[in-house]
Amino acid sequence: MQNRQLFLQHVAQTSPAPIGIEMVKASGIHQWDVSGKQYVDLISGFSVCNIGHSHPAVVQAVQEQAAAYMHLIVYGEFIESPQVRYAARLAEHLPASLNTVYFTNSGAEATEGAMKLAKRVTGRSRIIAFQNAYHGSTQGALSIMGDEYWRQAFRPLLPGITHAAYNDDAVLQQIDASVACVILETVQAESGITRPHNSWLQAIRKQCDAHGVLLVLDEIQAGFGRTGSLWAFEQAGIIPDILLLGKALGGGMPLGAFIASWDRMQLLTQDPVLGHITTFGGHPVSCAAGLAALDVLLSSGWIDSVAAKAQVLAEKLKHPAIQSRQAAGLWMSLQFANATLNQRIVHQCVQNGLITDWFLFAPDRLRIAPPLCISEAELSEVCDRILLSIDQVLSAS
Ligand code: PLP
Repeated sequence: MQNRQLFLQHVAQTSPAPIGIEMVKASGIHQWDVSGKQYVDLISGFSVCNIGHSHPAVVQAVQEQAAAYMHLIVYGEFIESPQVRYAARLAEHLPASLNTVYFTNSGAEATEGAMKLAKRVTGRSRIIAFQNAYHGSTQGALSIMGDEYWRQAFRPLLPGITHAAYNDDAVLQQIDASVACVILETVQAESGITRPHNSWLQAIRKQCDAHGVLLVLDEIQAGFGRTGSLWAFEQAGIIPDILLLGKALGGGMPLGAFIASWDRMQLLTQDPVLGHITTFGGHPVSCAAGLAALDVLLSSGWIDSVAAKAQVLAEKLKHPAIQSRQAAGLWMSLQFANATLNQRIVHQCVQNGLITDWFLFAPDRLRIAPPLCISEAELSEVCDRILLSIDQVLSAS
């Protein structure tokens, strides 16, 4: 039987219409399907492959670590040098108050850990989250997801959650001494890349400080250079109490993390002891891969090149059918008249060798988040192909 049929029969599906192309290789900005057709990955596997696919330094780190040891014992018992070295490297590049890393397997688990830590630190249970927010698909993360359409089928969910409007001052009055944490994406991804005002983020930070509320920033998509600085919060001039990382954190391997101060993180060791544990979180191979990927990112100059590459997108992606654009660094959404038209353009892009997608809460927007290693010339050529795809769809209508 063909792999496609086996995929549809035996691999659990997440939508009625998967892209369903069988890929056999990925390297740098490219992927190749089983027929040998080459694609540019315009979404970096959803902001995972910020340094490109299968970077040789990451492959080597994975091979060496797999040969040395893989799983030893549940997280947090033995000293495993890939975890230790990666946590220390992250701490070197974070503010001093974010010096302790709890590694997880995924972004959703990082969200779950952060919510539990905020409850443990404050002794409170209310959480303020935002409309159009996505923090993962587990039940806690789903409870704070910002759209009732996705929540309604899975109730009851966590109580005590308020969903406020993103980038709107109305939330400030809701942050009081009953709240454990405010959790938000520094740049909101699935609404189609919404960059809030720095003054809004700063006002939230101030209000949290005034009421002993923890501020949790989710940079699972926005981190690792995507917005033009290593962390998006650097540009906003605020520091979170808990930072959520995932996606590019593992350099292509599964890894997430919630990061806080040592004092706060210590609370998870007692009352109850082992109150937050994981078997595979911080897998040594994932940590070795992530550390290698971060070192490549930091030494490559790719973060510094984001502004010039963003300019290429801004200059070239102009078309009467593009109704609006939103961007943060090398991360852009293009809005079309409706979701159906966008879907057709996404499919035409795939036909033309460009892997792109839509956004969960903005199905009328096309997603552009290429690996940061893409060159300006490659980006310019990609823009031509997007414009061609739009024209092809419009002329077929
Ligand atoms: N937070 C954000 C902003 C995300 O984009 C995602 C995944 O898309 C998550 C959390 C959840 O991460 P994961 O899919 O690794 O559970």
